[in-house]
Amino acid sequence: MALFDVHAHLTSPRLAPDEAAILDRARRAGVGTIISNGLNPADNQAVLELSRRSGGLVEPAFGLYPVDAVLPEMKAMGVPYPRDDEGAIPTAEEGVAWVRDHVDEAFAVGEIGLDGHWVPEALWERQEQVFRELVALAMEADKPIIVHTRRRERRTLEILQEMGANRVDWHCFGSRVKLARQIAQLDGHYLSIPANVARVESFARMIETLPRDRLLLETDCPYLSPEPGRASEPADAAHTVRFAAQAWGCGEDEVVARLDDNFAALFGRPP
Ligand SMILES: [Zn+2]
Repeated sequence: MALFDVHAHLTSPRLAPDEAAILDRARRAGVGTIISNGLNPADNQAVLELSRRSGGLVEPAFGLYPVDAVLPEMKAMGVPYPRDDEGAIPTAEEGVAWVRDHVDEAFAVGEIGLDGHWVPEALWERQEQVFRELVALAMEADKPIIVHTRRRERRTLEILQEMGANRVDWHCFGSRVKLARQIAQLDGHYLSIPANVARVESFARMIETLPRDRLLLETDCPYLSPEPGRASEPADAAHTVRFAAQAWGCGEDEVVARLDDNFAALFGRPP
C-alpha cells in the first residue's frame, strides 16, 4: 500500500530548489508515486528530466496548461495574467507538438483543459480547439488525461463525453458537488481531492458523498496547502487520507487500500 499524488508541480520555482528534501519527505510519508504535471514545453522537459532522476518516485504527465494554450493571444489583447515563469511564451502549436512527440514517454497527459477564469470568452473557442487536439492525442496513445477546468466544467464534460474519453482525472474540481456526482457516475472518470480538504467545504462534501471508487489523492503543490503560509508538497496527501478516514468512519489503511485500487484502475498499475 502506498499514498500517491496525481497532481503535483514539483518543477515549480517554489519547490524545485528543495527537490531532494521534498522527495525524501514524500518517501518517508509513504508516497509511492507522484505524477508531476507539465504546463508547457519547457516545463514538460523539466518534468521529464525530474522523473528520470527520481528513482521511479516521480512519473511524468505532459500537458499544456489551458491558459498557456492561448497566452500569446491574451498578451496581444493586453489581458493581464500573473506567471511564475517569465520565459518565452510558446504557441499552442508548439505546445501540442511537444506533447505529440513525447506522448509515448508520458504516464499521463496533463494538465490540459478549459479555463474561463483567466481566459476571456473571445478565446474560449480557440482554447477548446487546443483541448480537443490534446484529448485526441491522449486517447490515440491510450494515456489517462488529467484535467484542469475552472468556470468551464460543464463544457469540459460535454467535450470529453462527445469524444468518448474514459480515462480521466478531474483535478481540483471547483464547480458544484452535484456536477461532481454526475461526473463520478461516468465510466473511467475520477476526481482527485487536494490536501486542503478540511478547509474547503466542497472538497469535504465530495469526500463524504461521491462514490468511494472514484476518488484519488492530489496536492496541486505548491498550491492548496493544508496549512496556510507554506507551500504544499506530495507528503501532504496524508491530510486527505486522514480526513477521509474520519468522514468514512474507518481506518486510514482502509482508505489507502480503496484509493490505491482507484489509482490502479485509472493508471494501469498500483501507486
Ligand atoms: Zn496544476
